[in-house]
Parts: sequence; structure tokens; C-alpha cells
Amino acid sequence: MSATIIDGKAFAATVREKVAVHVSRLKEQNGITPGLAVVLVGEDPASQVYVRSKGKMTVEVGMNSYEHKLDIDTSEADLLTLIDTLNKDPAVHGILVQLPLPKHLDEDLVINAIDPAKDVDGFHISNVGLLGTGQKSMVPCTPLGCLMMLRDHHGSLSGMDAVVIGRSNIVGKPMAQLLLGDSCTVTIAHSRTKDLPEVVRRADIVVAAVGRPEMVPGDWIKPGATVIDVGINRIDAPEKGEGKTRLVGDAHYESCAEVAGAITPVPGGVGPMTIACLLANTVTACCRANGLEEPE
Ligand code: NDP
Repeated sequence: MSATIIDGKAFAATVREKVAVHVSRLKEQNGITPGLAVVLVGEDPASQVYVRSKGKMTVEVGMNSYEHKLDIDTSEADLLTLIDTLNKDPAVHGILVQLPLPKHLDEDLVINAIDPAKDVDGFHISNVGLLGTGQKSMVPCTPLGCLMMLRDHHGSLSGMDAVVIGRSNIVGKPMAQLLLGDSCTVTIAHSRTKDLPEVVRRADIVVAAVGRPEMVPGDWIKPGATVIDVGINRIDAPEKGEGKTRLVGDAHYESCAEVAGAITPVPGGVGPMTIACLLANTVTACCRANGLEEPE
């Protein structure tokens, strides 16, 4: 194995420490405690795990966590009423609606009902537009975490060829915008891309956000390239015992690590950075709401 392992878990811990320092300063100097409200509709097991861990880490950095768990058949009107209440609540600086929502709820409508200034996920259409035009916005947490790791590893990304595999609104597209903002030459690949292996082989930076276990093999990777693996896929792991499972990314870790210059592991790469960026975004939202200097 030749690649440097980009330790997202350790990096995320340093981001959380900085957030905690900022939070205590806000409390001591301004008498403000940043607050994050997380709304979960239904009982999707993965979403429940994410929400629990977001709440735990929110409290750990000294912020207030408000969890709203709603029944799976909650009506759109009731959900919108809750969002309106949170929008108006001065103790709530960030609002996150855990996706995916049950089918009967219109995700776009719900997300766009969040006050853009409190939209710590960065999915509101205003924030999408601001990011796309290079203006100050709330930046989606997963791509922001990826960018932070890339900047930390490379310094400047200017002029690098980046291929983002996946064009979702929550990962692929904002990731591409951020890389473009850092002056990469960006290609967005997706399920209709012709000759994906050749496209990926051109890249100095590969961001895999596909949702297909271990889809990207090492022989697609240009020697020395950096692989950021966003995928979180649970697969059977009979080697660990009957009925056991394990998490893998969208890149085939062992073969990619043979050729890449650097790679993020799964777990312990992008995942922890996502939550750390959510906390950082909440502090940013709190500072903006109170006309205070933002953290870097
Ligand atoms: P989506 O399912 O919304 O998007 C997947 C994208 O991959 C689509 O654009 C799709 O193309 C593309 N795709 C699917 N199959 C192929 C293929 N064979 N070749 C090329 N492209 C393909 O997923 P998300 O963006 O929401 O998530 C992607 C992964 O990231 C998932 O594993 C998810 O669990 C993980 N994730 C991890 C997070 C973290 O914190 N680490 C946070 C969010 C997501 P098309 O548009 O043409 O259908």
C-alpha cells in the first residue's frame, strides 16, 4: 500500500475542538449558546443513527441540541408548521431536516421552507444559488468536509483535474462547485457517462459519491491521485460471522490505496468530517444572526 491515509476522524476532532472553543467564547463574551434543531420524520434506522450522533456531538461541543422526532405519517402541513416555529425561534441558529423524507412529503418544499440563514445543510435554493455564483452561503456539509481535507492535504488545488462521480444535489453538484471555486478543472460523471474508467484516469482528484459498494477499482486511478470516498455502503461480511455486516465506500479501498497518492478510508474519512462541518456551520449561522465575527 502506497497511499497516504487521510485521517478524517482525527481531522474532524480538530474541527470540533475549534468549534468548541468558539462556542465557549460566544457563551462567555456574548451570552449566546448556539442551538441546532434536527428534525427526523419516521424511523429509518440509518437516519436514527445519524440524528443520534449529530445530537451527541452538538452537546459535546457545548451547543444546545433540539431533536424533533415526528411520526412517519406526519402531514406536510404539520412539518411546515414546525419549521416555521423553528425559523422564528431565536434560540435555534441551525435547522436540519434529516433526509430522505417519507414519500408523501415534498422534500424540495420542506427544505425551501427553512430560513436560508438557518439552513446549515446548505440545501435551500438560495444557498445553492449563492454557492453557484461564488457568494457567501451555507455550504453543504459533506462536500465542505471533502474540500477541507483536500486543502489540508494539497494546499492549493488550483489547476488540478478533478472528477466527481455522482451528480446529486447534496453531494456531487455542490462538490463540483466547491472544486471549481478552488480553480480545479472539474468533470462531473454520472450513470450515463461514457467510458467512466478513462474519465477517472485523467483525474488528480477523484471524489466518489455514487452509492455503489467498491465500484471504483484501483486500475481506474491515475498513480498519485487523491481519492475522496464519500460512499457509505453496508455489505455482508460473512468472514466476521453469520449475519455480520461491514461498511465500505464507493472506491475499492485496497486496490485504490496501491496506486493513489492519498485516500480517505471508510469508515473514518468523509463521515466524521460531515458532522464536524455541520457543527461549524451552526456556529457560523449563530455568528451571522448576531452580527458577530465568523469563525474562519
Ligand atoms: P444519489 O443516489 O443521490 O446519487 C448517486 C449518483 O451516482 C447519481 O448521480 C448517479 O447518476 C451516480 N451513479 C449511480 N450509478 C453510477 C454508475 N454506475 N456510474 C456512474 N455514476 C453512477 O447518492 P448521494 O449523492 O446522496 O450519495 C452518494 C453516496 O455518498 C452514498 O453512498 C451515500 O450513502 C454517501 N453519502 C455519504 C455522506 C457522508 O457523510 N459520508 C453524506 C451523504 C451521502 P445518475 O444521476 O445518472 O443517476
